[in-house]
Amino acid sequence: MAGPPLNTLVLDSSQTEIAGRILRDGGLVVFPTETVYGLGADAQNSAACTAIFAAKGRPADNPLIVHIVDPAHLELVAASVDPLSRRLFERFAPGPLTLVLPRAAGIPDVVTAGLESVAVRFPAHPVARAVISAAGTPVAAPSANRSGRPSPTDFDAAWDHMHGRVDAIVRGEPSQVGLESTVARVVGSRIELLREGAITTEMIAEVVPAGVPVVTVSSYQASVGSTAATGPLPGSAAGPAPVPSPGVRHRHYQPDARVVLAATGEVWATVSRLVSDAAGRSRIGVLAVSGRCIPTSGAIDTRVDLVTCMSLDEYARELYRCFRRFDATGCSVIVAEMPEPTGIGSAILDRLRRAAGQV
Ligand code: AMP
Ligand code: MG
Repeated sequence: MAGPPLNTLVLDSSQTEIAGRILRDGGLVVFPTETVYGLGADAQNSAACTAIFAAKGRPADNPLIVHIVDPAHLELVAASVDPLSRRLFERFAPGPLTLVLPRAAGIPDVVTAGLESVAVRFPAHPVARAVISAAGTPVAAPSANRSGRPSPTDFDAAWDHMHGRVDAIVRGEPSQVGLESTVARVVGSRIELLREGAITTEMIAEVVPAGVPVVTVSSYQASVGSTAATGPLPGSAAGPAPVPSPGVRHRHYQPDARVVLAATGEVWATVSRLVSDAAGRSRIGVLAVSGRCIPTSGAIDTRVDLVTCMSLDEYARELYRCFRRFDATGCSVIVAEMPEPTGIGSAILDRLRRAAGQV
């Protein structure tokens, strides 16, 4: 962060006009969205967007998502919208879907990390929408965490990451989804998922014409920028694409504690082994799906901090909050049950693998 700490204002959800004015004046505002808390700046103000990277410690090659409310603002952000992308927005906007489109001239280089494409989302959260409407401009907003750390999904987490680094934080309820948006792009006549999220492969496949493939671009392809697999970015000159979604190659989502993944049938054996290995007072966080792997009889060791989720939606919503809780209660290891890779389980698994340093 350049310069001395800022005196960060805390606003409540009725003070979105003030948040909008700060954004219009080139300031930084953290606000709740349905996915995670976002760190916003005027997407047409290069200096303000540069300040986002400083506040987060974000690498300059990781582009920002631009958020809009008014469909008429789409042309301020994207130079064109192909029919498949239009269809996806018609079905899933407002909501947790980000589309990568050719970039409009008014979007500064710093936002797109120099790419000829830009990522756009219409958030659904009423407070996010009120802040963006009050700003009267498209708002670039990555997750409001320090780079590499889990995204904040409630006010306390956003405050811990960003107080002293931003002009204001709007207090809201915990985020409903709890995972970052799905990022997708249309390449020719197929759809690529660059980052999985609450809008799943299955949901996208249901609304596109039969025969349009929906493929998840693996982290490996993303990290090597395999043009054979992905083709050039929309709107970019023909030729090798650099990296389809640059953000996915950086270290991500990691708590202080070591994250160990376990299949359903292995969770309790893994916990028991770690308990018997654990030196002294070291604690172990366990995140599991209810009724699948926790013994129903016998005492659970007092060093185990167990959270069970009733559904995969709850797992997604609680994942980053649990990471924070386990760090705060001094856990050195977190054992996380691997969900099935269907529906939002696939996005949870993606974040868990990154948190565990596997990708
Ligand atoms: P965050 O806002 O921190 O949730 O991260 C934004 C994500 O969107 C990162 O994974 C970026 O790589 C991705 N992204 C943003 N702009 C583009 C773009 N123009 N092309 C591909 N991916 C993008
Ligand atoms: Mg992020």
